[in-house]
Amino acid sequence: MDNQFVLQPLEVGRFPAFPLNRFLLNGEPDKSVEAPCISWFARSTSSDLAILVDTGPAEPTEETSKFHLPLEVGEKRKVHNALKSHGIDPEEITHVVFTHLHFDHCAYAQHLPNAKILVQKSELQYAVAPQKAHLGGYEASRPNVIPSWMRSFDRIVPIEGDISVAPGFQILLLPGHTYGSSGVVFNTAQGRCAVAGDLINQVENWEGDNGRHIPPAANIGIDQCHESFKRLEKEAETILASHDYRMFDKTRY
Ligand SMILES: [Zn+2]
Repeated sequence: MDNQFVLQPLEVGRFPAFPLNRFLLNGEPDKSVEAPCISWFARSTSSDLAILVDTGPAEPTEETSKFHLPLEVGEKRKVHNALKSHGIDPEEITHVVFTHLHFDHCAYAQHLPNAKILVQKSELQYAVAPQKAHLGGYEASRPNVIPSWMRSFDRIVPIEGDISVAPGFQILLLPGHTYGSSGVVFNTAQGRCAVAGDLINQVENWEGDNGRHIPPAANIGIDQCHESFKRLEKEAETILASHDYRMFDKTRY
């Protein structure tokens, strides 16, 4: 397999107590987990491609903390600082993929000055005028709040559907958690690895219940989630989660 990538999880935010039944459909009520926001860094072993999948949340403000769960960012977790603490220069990043535009996935890309930012056109369109129930997640129509992704709008390149960006680096349209969610598939030494955004918040979304994957509780349709799970079964051998500390059991994938 030519053009392989090595993947590394970076902690770019932390929810001290996230209700499990918001990650897992029909999850246990009254149970919370400590959950990271993960930015996945992927470096090519044979070219200068250096990719980030999602960039985490912005530091909460007085306005945003009124409608978001308690969240910690701090200087050390901001994506450009998290990169530096792992010895990676933010200027090296060639591509950012936003799996979707929820507030906890797309901040501080303005500090990655050389990155081209890829996001599904359908997600961009929805994020500016979502249904009422989804306004908070996209930070849309809130007084004194500019959605984080808009701060890097000048470098956003809308994509449509499945695209192969470079050998071993592919983006799939995987609707389910949101209308325009993407997954990113990388060739690695261990086979194909997919970062699936919030379709897979926790390991259990993929490992499932009696062999059946568990959709995220926040979804735009159960059928779409199962269609996207089927896609992932075909397209990758390893599926990575977006909000699960167990991802840090390994430092490299
Ligand atoms: Zn989300």
